[in-house]
Amino acid sequence: MPATFDRMWKKSLEKIYNSHYFNDQDFKSWISKTTLFKIENNIAYIAYKSSITKAIMEQQLSLFETTLQEEYGSPIKIHLIEQKEMEQMIPEVVVQQKTNILLENKFNPTYTFENFIEGNSNQEAYAACFAACNQISFPAFNPLMLYGNSGLGKTHLLHAVGNYLAAERPEAKVIYMYSGDFVSLLIEAMRAKSIHGNTVDQVKQQLLDCDYFLIDDIQNLQNSASQEVFFTVYNQLIQKNSQIIITSDIHPHDLNNLQNRLVSRFSSGLAINISKPGFETSKAILKKKLEGREDIISDDVLDYLALTFSNDVRNLEGRLNQLIFQSTLFNPEIIDMKFAMEHLGKEPIVEKRSELTIRSIKKAVSQFYGLSYSDIEGKSRLKQIMNARHICVYLSREMLHKPYMQIGQELGKRDHTTIQSSYNRACELIKKDKAFATAIDQIKEKLT
Ligand code: ADP
Ligand code: MG
Repeated sequence: MPATFDRMWKKSLEKIYNSHYFNDQDFKSWISKTTLFKIENNIAYIAYKSSITKAIMEQQLSLFETTLQEEYGSPIKIHLIEQKEMEQMIPEVVVQQKTNILLENKFNPTYTFENFIEGNSNQEAYAACFAACNQISFPAFNPLMLYGNSGLGKTHLLHAVGNYLAAERPEAKVIYMYSGDFVSLLIEAMRAKSIHGNTVDQVKQQLLDCDYFLIDDIQNLQNSASQEVFFTVYNQLIQKNSQIIITSDIHPHDLNNLQNRLVSRFSSGLAINISKPGFETSKAILKKKLEGREDIISDDVLDYLALTFSNDVRNLEGRLNQLIFQSTLFNPEIIDMKFAMEHLGKEPIVEKRSELTIRSIKKAVSQFYGLSYSDIEGKSRLKQIMNARHICVYLSREMLHKPYMQIGQELGKRDHTTIQSSYNRACELIKKDKAFATAIDQIKEKLT
């Protein structure tokens, strides 16, 4: 699906939404999930996932046709086709569609430069990312590589770059990818190689069309065929002066799974370590998190948390959330050391952080909502169940960095684009639905 078709269809749907022909629920649950995958001989092929969508759209087909016609510029007929049928017919179009969706950046709105606390441990990384956003002619350091243990703010900084560029330099094209998603996408592209052209090349071309290429957790780029593609994309991006920013959980020299030539390329740029934050920085992170609510917790508890849990900021935040949650249950006057000692020791649902898996996330979410696994894996569109599903996806990404494909497998064998939409939906809901955001915090607490 070329990006222009995608845009045309999105615009048409926007118009139809604004004309209020359909109720919000029908529109969001069904109509908005359709895609335009090709126009041939003035027939637009629209793919739908559920027969409900087909039934709703068929009643007003001429409305869709005239609206799309306005965008397209000449007469058009619509042919509705089931997504699965379409996928079998033209795998290369599907790959392109999936690439488009994957390249549609949704940055976590809370991961900004403003929300990032600087300290000795991360100052350099912060400054280099900020500088990379503001150089106009060519990158001073390319690639820029951030490495350090899990939970120390690497993903946060990549998203901060994305958020900053979207606000300050919207003309800059930014691609952000988890390396795990990059691998899944390429596996699919290789499978779809067809007589219509080389699908892998199509993906490559799409990846090359950017000014910033942000690739998260490069240590997951294990598969050698995907390394080959990455290597060519990487070289061409460097040549055309696109800024590349890479993160890794391990030191560049310990990236044993990557080909040597790839690793030696990385050393041509700037590699910066992020280490665990010191006491003051950890405390400032906690205070930032509390913003405006500092009086609910005594200062010595913050000192204690900052001293004890600074190895991993994710865990540090988790402990604070745990205490805040317990305080909503037990209503102490203030969270003091006595309260903290009593409640930090409480048995979490999952005993050890190392045991955290998609399954344990599913377990925590289903317990929280009082649902069964089959509710979560099933097809129900009840708000409560959909929210539970979104949270499973969101936490599997945020806490475990699992590729969409794998999350999809464990959530009722869903397609990876569905999982990505679900992740995006969760990001939106966090912003506007307080109950949803609180549910996430509470479940996360139980897990850490
Ligand atoms: P990594 O990618 O290095 O594993 P993340 O970027 O996912 O770590 O960070 C884990 C959590 O800690 C996120 O919620 C992030 O916002 C928070 N965090 C990490 N470092 C900082 C910091 N310096 N200031 C504020 N929040 C931070
Ligand atoms: Mg990360």
